[in-house]
Amino acid sequence: MQDKGQRKSVDLFLFLSKTENMNGIENILRAASFAAKKHTDQKRKGNDGEPYINHPLEVANMLVNIGGVDDPDIIMAALLHDTVEDTEVTFDEIAEQFGLTVAGYVREVTDDKSLPKAERKQKQVEHAPHLSQGAKQIKLGDKISNIRDVTDNPPDGWDLQRRREYVDWGEKVVAGLRGANANLEKLFDETVEKARRRLAAAATQS
Ligand code: ZN
Repeated sequence: MQDKGQRKSVDLFLFLSKTENMNGIENILRAASFAAKKHTDQKRKGNDGEPYINHPLEVANMLVNIGGVDDPDIIMAALLHDTVEDTEVTFDEIAEQFGLTVAGYVREVTDDKSLPKAERKQKQVEHAPHLSQGAKQIKLGDKISNIRDVTDNPPDGWDLQRRREYVDWGEKVVAGLRGANANLEKLFDETVEKARRRLAAAATQS
């Protein structure tokens, strides 16, 4: 016969883990909804004018389904990662709504927009190795998504040279993120390889 005390603690454990999961899912959906509202008037830079929210959704989706990330704070931060950089949202607001851990990740992956663009890009390369594991994984997903866009659906006016330089810069940033998530790194490498093939093919056509 099973010990009653033991049984009870197993039930309690199942209950707690279920509640914890539920809170995770609720908070993740709340973050998705918050990000969608904040990015509501924005489009991706690409010439097909995709709604901006598709990008953070793609990053979060990659983290979970390819990277195997199951920490709700990292998934929430992935959904929110561009809200401070690209909308009027503040870190305080993120902390208040989603907690300090999530706000910390978002802060780690947010560029200082007061700096000139070239300096911001250089800072990303320098900061990458010093990011937390969670922020590194978000950054990996972000770079994969952005390189895909620049390859498949480039912003208006981006010639092949500019697109090549973007891929090269992405690689430099990702060099500092290695070791954070093998599956995402593999996907990044495949994405870069595909991007280079497509850009080379486009160069011979023109
Ligand atoms: Zn992003």
